[in-house]
Amino acid sequence: MTNVLVIAEQRGGALNPHSIEAVVGAQKLAAALGADVDVGLIGGDLDAAAGELKNVEAKALHLVADPALEPYRAEAYVPAASALVSALSPQFVVMPHTYLVRDFAPRLAASFGRVLISDSIEFRHENGQTVFVRQLFQGKLNADILASGDHPHFVSFQAGAFRADELATDTAGIATQTVDAGLDAGQLRTQAKAPVHEMADGVDLSSVDVIVSVGRGIQSEENIDLAQRLAKALNGEVGASRPVCDAGWMSNDHQIGSSGQSVSPKLYLALGISGSIQHMVGVKGAKTIAAINTDAKAPIFKAADYGIVGDVLEVVPVLIEEIEGG
Ligand SMILES: Cc1cc2nc3c(=O)[nH]c(=O)nc-3n(C[C@H](O)[C@H](O)[C@H](O)COP(=O)(O)OP(=O)(O)OC[C@H]3O[C@@H](n4cnc5c(N)ncnc54)[C@H](O)[C@@H]3O)c2cc1C
Repeated sequence: MTNVLVIAEQRGGALNPHSIEAVVGAQKLAAALGADVDVGLIGGDLDAAAGELKNVEAKALHLVADPALEPYRAEAYVPAASALVSALSPQFVVMPHTYLVRDFAPRLAASFGRVLISDSIEFRHENGQTVFVRQLFQGKLNADILASGDHPHFVSFQAGAFRADELATDTAGIATQTVDAGLDAGQLRTQAKAPVHEMADGVDLSSVDVIVSVGRGIQSEENIDLAQRLAKALNGEVGASRPVCDAGWMSNDHQIGSSGQSVSPKLYLALGISGSIQHMVGVKGAKTIAAINTDAKAPIFKAADYGIVGDVLEVVPVLIEEIEGG
């Protein structure tokens, strides 16, 4: 029986939420292959994160626990993950495409003489082979990557590629096994410093009821004021897409999405935001999404409960006037 190994990610005992999405991707891949799923977890103290995975439907949860794995260092993670892969000899090794995976997984794949098929958004089977799809040029083109040759094949899935709420669970509980990576802390040359918490004094949008979020369609920094006035009228806060933060129109702590904050407001009002997968993954918890966009075919309208096809610079002043006047 072939198997699919998914390496879940934890930091300081907390499971990275995209790990569950990767487990769902692994479950779907295994179902298509008629294979088993094994889940791996790597770190110093794994009790808390293992607890979060206890009802996942999988063959077993394999723990590679070693004090040398905390704090994170690629130098220790690669042999730990390598021990896991060698012990299970899987056909596919699936991971969430997190910053940590970007750091250690290429080196892990290379240590097996393989490549990492990174940031995949989906897969399909064709003529007995598995094809993974990756986006190119900011999502303008899709590329098919064929996983051919000897296993293991290493693949990471983009945040939002699979839905965490589609996780197959089993109340009987997952069997737990341990894998000894045989790490020798004295041999490790990398010293990890404490992580930088850029968000310490930043804006916390995670518990806000109304978010007015600006995208590139707002056109210029001067027009951010319109969004701020609308947010004030609605007793809300202002969020932003990544290009708006990258342009310096708003500080990075306003960014919503896979590399920003995840939010769950009652109302998310998107002004001139196209609705890329990386943005929408941060908005999954929103109860109601409303969007204003000049392009009726913008992907945001697929996710939106309400939409206005129009120019934000024309529509927002009218909304402010209506709300303040009303
Ligand atoms: C690894 C990675 C991580 C990423 N992380 C994030 C993330 O955390 N958050 C994030 O947001 N993005 C992220 N991105 C970028 C993401 O892929 C998109 O490029 C980005 O979300 C697009 O931002 P946007 O919608 O503001 O801009 P665009 O895609 O340029 O869309 C602008 C929209 O405004 C509309 N528009 C133009 N003029 C007007 C007008 N006058 N009135 C109304 N509508 C108008 C257009 O029709 C268009 O739909 C990430 C990308 C990568 C590769």
